[in-house]
Amino acid sequence: MACIFCQIIEGKIPSYKVYEDDNVYAFLDITQGTKGHTLVIPKKHIENLYALDDTIAKEVFSAVPKVANALKKAFNPIGLNLINNNDKPHQTVFHFHVHLIPRYPDDGMQLSTLNHQETLTQSDYIEIQDAIKRAFK
Ligand code: AMP
Ligand code: ZN
Repeated sequence: MACIFCQIIEGKIPSYKVYEDDNVYAFLDITQGTKGHTLVIPKKHIENLYALDDTIAKEVFSAVPKVANALKKAFNPIGLNLINNNDKPHQTVFHFHVHLIPRYPDDGMQLSTLNHQETLTQSDYIEIQDAIKRAFK
């Protein structure tokens, strides 16, 4: 099945483009969570965060603050959330994208908060730390 975001980049389906450079494209999310909700994507089809190489990661993430600052200047939000979903439970389009969601007073946007679900001991933290450090090898 053809990737909907690749089709947007190719101009085969319309989008509300707000930014473009050689490697990156940004456009309004068709379902505006709040005013200015924007998606920033690499032009190259990359499924998600795990598949980003150094070059594309740099290209995409250097565009993110540019778009964020444009949103800030355009709409003067009280804040802004940066969200990226990978696989379950929330990724629905499998072309890497960063959501930029400007926030406004009483905007009704519901993002799950970081609810700290576990009470861990020091050895639990060390075990988790070690597992992650081992995974780099
Ligand atoms: P995610 O759930 O993180 O994979 O987000 C995918 C996002 O893509 C959703 O917020 C959709 O509203 C958005 N989306 C899907 N199709 C389009 C489209 N044709 N143009 C703009 N945004 C889209
Ligand atoms: Zn794609």
